[in-house]
Amino acid sequence: MVRVTDSAPLDVDLALLGGGGAASLLLAALDRHDVRDLRIAIVDPVRRRGQDRTWAFWGHPDSDLDPLLSASWQQVEVATAARRRVLDLTPLRYAMLRSGPVYDRAADAERRLDATRIVAPAETVRDDGDRVLVGTGDGRGVRAGWVLDSRPRPPARAGRTTWLQHFRGWWLEADRPVFDPMRAVLMDFRTPQPPRGVSFGYVLPVSDRYALVEYTEFSPDLLTDAGYDAALAGYRDLLGLDPTGLRVREVENGVIPMTDAPFPARPTPRVVRLGTAGGATRPSTGFTFSAMYRQADQVARALAAGRAPVPAPAYPRRHRWMDAVALRALDRGGVGGPEFFDRLFDRNPAERVLRFLDGGTTPAEEVVIMNSTRLWPMIAATAGDAVHRVRDRVRPTRPAPAIPPAVVGSAPTARRGGPPSGEDDVRAR
Ligand SMILES: Cc1cc2nc3c(=O)[nH]c(=O)nc-3n(C[C@H](O)[C@H](O)[C@H](O)COP(=O)(O)OP(=O)(O)OC[C@H]3O[C@@H](n4cnc5c(N)ncnc54)[C@H](O)[C@@H]3O)c2cc1C
Repeated sequence: MVRVTDSAPLDVDLALLGGGGAASLLLAALDRHDVRDLRIAIVDPVRRRGQDRTWAFWGHPDSDLDPLLSASWQQVEVATAARRRVLDLTPLRYAMLRSGPVYDRAADAERRLDATRIVAPAETVRDDGDRVLVGTGDGRGVRAGWVLDSRPRPPARAGRTTWLQHFRGWWLEADRPVFDPMRAVLMDFRTPQPPRGVSFGYVLPVSDRYALVEYTEFSPDLLTDAGYDAALAGYRDLLGLDPTGLRVREVENGVIPMTDAPFPARPTPRVVRLGTAGGATRPSTGFTFSAMYRQADQVARALAAGRAPVPAPAYPRRHRWMDAVALRALDRGGVGGPEFFDRLFDRNPAERVLRFLDGGTTPAEEVVIMNSTRLWPMIAATAGDAVHRVRDRVRPTRPAPAIPPAVVGSAPTARRGGPPSGEDDVRAR
């Protein structure tokens, strides 16, 4: 509800609704591309600062992000009960970026761009095709030429498959060298598999004594607080780490949608959605960062050239279709998750799989990738997906469930090895 005040709405060329990951990357890109002559407003009830999440992503070395990285690895491991595979990612590398430096860079960019910050929620958005009127919680409002909206929201309607990527990670500090800083564990499927879904652990070491160790599930439902702690402790034990020699320095919790439901990227002519809200989250993996970065760069380049700030779709349409089929095969039990990912990495160079997951492969490469999965379950999932699409056309649209908040631990408890405690415990979301 817009409150009525005497002051006129703030007039800007560009209003960013939401100032999280997507908007931070966009501010940095606008600064990088020297977009100086735009009036910009950022509307977010929260001013993002510090470490509230860790982004892992792959890409080419020597990008403008390099000075901000906490670590990067040329080699990663994918492990199953049957084997441990070490993948050389050349010419790509896997990288870890903590949110603090990203938010700091965005804050510097915000100052240089002379943007106006409104610390209030955006409540209403009305696009008349020429200007967009945004009602803000402080009652003043913003009138913008374009709105770039990254506020979290559920998809436009229910998907055919609705999963969540949900996880808890511990930043572990060890008394003695226990991690291999030269190598990250990308996916370790030796964790007990849930009845419906896929689970894995991973390890992102920044030194031989300090690493982010996470337990992740791709599945329909969240665990309890105790469930995450038990799963993560189980994974720590699987890694052979002695809990008495470890301290949990920070905790990360998160929930990311994994669904073939639509996230409309341009709901009205002058409103463009970015980030997870705009479809930047890859349905089959939950990875989002690379698409957000790519789209931020496209928007900034377009504005620098005097064009409309509309990025290319986060992923090609055929990739979204392949993801829908893969999610369906995993959900309906046709394909086991560990087996699915193991075969992908077994039968393709790692670089091709990673490019595929970023939406950057050619159709010919995608045929090879699809051929590396088990044929019959994928054919069944493709047929099921086609039938479901037809059914969706004839029956009324079902609303999508809201994306639930992450389960955040309640009572801090004792230190060494056990669940985290006290001031050391930085909880995300
Ligand atoms: C803990 C965590 C770890 C992740 N790790 C990875 C990873 O390793 N790799 C990867 O690719 N992806 C990862 N993701 C997924 C994705 O990259 C992040 O969620 C990313 O931050 C998404 O950016 P966003 O801008 O879409 O949303 P957010 O960063 O969540 O930003 C949304 C912003 O909107 C604001 N907002 C909410 N309501 C309003 C309102 N009414 N008006 C104005 N503003 C509002 C919020 O305060 C917030 O600042 C992770 C996600 C989480 C939660």
